Amino acid sequence: MSLLLDTPAPTPQDLTGRTVVVLHAHPDDEAIFTGATIRRLADHGARVVLVTATAGELGTPRIRLDGRQVGDVRRAELERSAELLGVSRLVLLGRRDSGLAGWESGQHPAALVRADLPAIANTVAALVEAEQAEAVVGYDADGIYGHPDHVAVHLLARHAAGLAGVTSYDATVDREHLHFAGAHVLDDAAKPVGRPTYGRVTAEISVALAATPYELSVKRAALLAHASQIGPEALDDRFQETYELEWYLRRGPAAVLDELGNAHAVA
Ligand SMILES: [Zn+2]
Repeated sequence: MSLLLDTPAPTPQDLTGRTVVVLHAHPDDEAIFTGATIRRLADHGARVVLVTATAGELGTPRIRLDGRQVGDVRRAELERSAELLGVSRLVLLGRRDSGLAGWESGQHPAALVRADLPAIANTVAALVEAEQAEAVVGYDADGIYGHPDHVAVHLLARHAAGLAGVTSYDATVDREHLHFAGAHVLDDAAKPVGRPTYGRVTAEISVALAATPYELSVKRAALLAHASQIGPEALDDRFQETYELEWYLRRGPAAVLDELGNAHAVA
């Protein structure tokens, strides 16, 4: 298991003029995996460009949609979440949720997994350059838990960062930490994917960020902004220990996320 060392948090400097492009697969992923990180970046003056690949069209709604399309509802939820987190610019790549491996939805011509990923990576790299971003955030090579769209986002982020010549950070979760924490939304999400586990082990992680109480409250609000997917019952009384940490693997020189970290996960 992991624990927080009480090393003093480096006081993040003024990050005005610094920019990060954060890539996600579906609306709600930005809050689940990177919510506190985005809020902290924004609070210290950094510009966060959130790029979401799909509208999560295949998410099972937990509320009545009254005739609205899932994708439309989720786009609106994403806008609200992005606002809460302090995102400066939200870019939608306009691909469609692919669903899980073997689903017919993966054959849809707009499905992210059917996209020309090198072409999209070029588009993202052009965005990184236009924004003069110093880093791209994506997912670990397994897409954290194996969802095909998340694996695609890993490839996109890694490739775009390479083209633009900037550091990439792969968002992940510390499976050792979560083993001892409360219920995580990944527990249910990972089951149908058929993987025995998710995330990475503590020793693989380059950067761990621990949310302040304020950042955690914003992250909770951003999660709940995705009301069609996440209800308060999913965020139980162990919310803090389950969601306060966010974890990254870095490829390339240390960049802005390394300046935010205030937790060191140790085995
Ligand atoms: Zn997702």
